[in-house]
Amino acid sequence: MNKNLLLILPLGVFLLIGIFYFNSKTDPTPSETTEDSGPKNMVQHGVDFSNGQSVDVIDYEGNYLLVSKLRVGDSHPPHATGPGCGDKHWHADDPVTAVNNGKVLSDPLAGGCGFGTLSERPAMMYFPHELLAE
Ligand SMILES: [Zn+2]
Repeated sequence: MNKNLLLILPLGVFLLIGIFYFNSKTDPTPSETTEDSGPKNMVQHGVDFSNGQSVDVIDYEGNYLLVSKLRVGDSHPPHATGPGCGDKHWHADDPVTAVNNGKVLSDPLAGGCGFGTLSERPAMMYFPHELLAE
């Protein structure tokens, strides 16, 4: 018997099994695309995303705060009500609702760097369940 045939035969069988197995796996599966295609509620914690636009946020310890609800404080020296801050920083005069989880946060250090400096917490683009660097 030819030595080459002894090699080719098992290889051919193996290939056939492989093809059979592959074919059995590609059986048409019942399509379960029951996602409703109707209009979705795109309001998330008071922010309407239905126009497909992102909002600018900062990431404060995993809470995404709208930049539009914050104000930027200039660096200021220590004063009677706080330690001051050496850089531009984020403040909020009123409690802010985080757009990703609905947590309501007050300025943690009104007499200091507030929610942090702009370099610590740069503004980012936020889409619902999505965060991209600006
Ligand atoms: Zn300040």
